[in-house]
Amino acid sequence: MKQIALYGKGGIGKSTTSANLSAALSDCGLDVMQIGCDPKHDSTRMLMWGEWIPTVLDLVREHGDANIAVSDAVFTGYGGIRCVEAGGPEPGIGCAGRGIIATFQLLQRLEALYGDVIVYDVLGDVVCGGFAMPMRDGYAQEIYLVTSGEFMSLYAANNICKAIARLSRRTRSVCSLAGVICNAKNIPGEEALVREFAERVNSRMVAYIPRANIVQIAEVNQRTVIEYAPESEQAEVYRQLARTIMENTTFTIPTPLEMHELEELARSHLTV
Ligand code: SF4
Repeated sequence: MKQIALYGKGGIGKSTTSANLSAALSDCGLDVMQIGCDPKHDSTRMLMWGEWIPTVLDLVREHGDANIAVSDAVFTGYGGIRCVEAGGPEPGIGCAGRGIIATFQLLQRLEALYGDVIVYDVLGDVVCGGFAMPMRDGYAQEIYLVTSGEFMSLYAANNICKAIARLSRRTRSVCSLAGVICNAKNIPGEEALVREFAERVNSRMVAYIPRANIVQIAEVNQRTVIEYAPESEQAEVYRQLARTIMENTTFTIPTPLEMHELEELARSHLTV
């Protein structure tokens, strides 16, 4: 079983990328599970045709851990993908990882953590106290960073590199950096910037996802691009990402940048 995690700053397009990746993987005949961990709990929504599924944290709050069945927490969406939302903290409070911890414990007790691929879609903002949980406990073995060329998004990606580097020093940990995905915002110089960032942190850019209107159109129709516009160029970009991830054997321990190095790097690419 391959367990991958997509990490990145909130609003960078992780959920869109994760959902399209899961859909593309399932189109290849793979048994896929997607677990979202984000206060917005909308990771799996496009796979569920717009439906908001209950979160594990809410279920635990309402019914207690012992009274939850698989069918309460795991929902089947596009292509038979099993969808789970860890749930989120109360606004302004944070959950310090309780959402994702409760989810792992529940799914393990219910023996529901299985399949060919599990895709974790995890918020990577430093404000989220629990963001390292999937890595720390060995669930997310291969980490993909989703970033654009925007500075704050690179800053978050660099912080996640720090977490991976720190955790890799522990003997129990098996997580490593598997690549950087550029989810473009159409900033001039962006592709070269993200490519160089990936190399500087001892990894590589595994995909460049161009900004395309079809993504928004598919979303307002409550579908992934893979389902809504399978013939589109954008769908092919996601399929290529799925192939790259399944064939990837290059995993590294990242070398995060110092703040001034990150700033210099951004300055050297993003000029007027
Ligand atoms: S661990 Fe972080 S991202 Fe996950 S539910 Fe908690 S606050 Fe949200």
